[in-house]
Amino acid sequence: MIIIITNTNLGTGTETSGRADNRAFDELRKMKIEAGVLERADGSAYLEIGGNKVLAAVYGPRELFVRRLMQPNKAVLRCKYNMAPFSVDDRKRPGPDRRSVEISKIASEALTPAVFLEKFPRSTIDVFIEVIEAEGGTRCAGITAASVALADAGIPMRDMVVACAAGKSDGKVILDLSEVEDKEGQADVPIAIMPRTGEITLLQMDGNLTEEEFEQALDLAINGCKIISEKQKAAIKNRYGDE
Ligand code: UDP
Repeated sequence: MIIIITNTNLGTGTETSGRADNRAFDELRKMKIEAGVLERADGSAYLEIGGNKVLAAVYGPRELFVRRLMQPNKAVLRCKYNMAPFSVDDRKRPGPDRRSVEISKIASEALTPAVFLEKFPRSTIDVFIEVIEAEGGTRCAGITAASVALADAGIPMRDMVVACAAGKSDGKVILDLSEVEDKEGQADVPIAIMPRTGEITLLQMDGNLTEEEFEQALDLAINGCKIISEKQKAAIKNRYGDE
């Protein structure tokens, strides 16, 4: 489902909020995005935000050999999210689990509306999201990196999907929860949008918020997405700027 939201309030990043890392309530963690970091993938990106380090690799469009998945009139976009065993404090057991299957699914659903899949019938576009270090917000970091990798692969897209979370911790509605704010907090609302139109392609909520708090969180997350979107564009420009 796609919801259209038009919201333009931009966070100031100036009010203090007593957050553990001294960020303002509407401030993102420090971040960087680089496109084209892998030699052998068709497209790739590396993203850091706070303590998260995420790689995304794209292969395709290429022939899809699994006949039951094949779509006669369009490509399928498949995502695989994986967390490295060393990415978290308690070693993560290698291999897929419920959480990684869920995040793979929602990442695929968040990215799909942006891609002109109908240009590549009977094909697949494969997106791999590898979390090397995790510190809260890896699904959003993964989706944001994957969009840059898709653009780097030259896949035709309506827009570059961008993701960011807001939520509630210590009773306050805040942007871009860190791991401790996520674990000790009251709610987490990760979203993904297509910034040009404002269409929301992912909206999840874990925890409890009042209607008013939910709207505040949504506003914050949308504004966070807009800031990150500029960094995505800069990453692609840096990669291809001189060509
Ligand atoms: N996490 C962890 N071990 C795990 C899964 C998650 O330590 O097996 C941490 C990690 O820092 C992650 C955070 O918990 O970023 C929040 O996880 P969640 O499932 O909410 O997804 P995310 O916020 O990363 O999208």
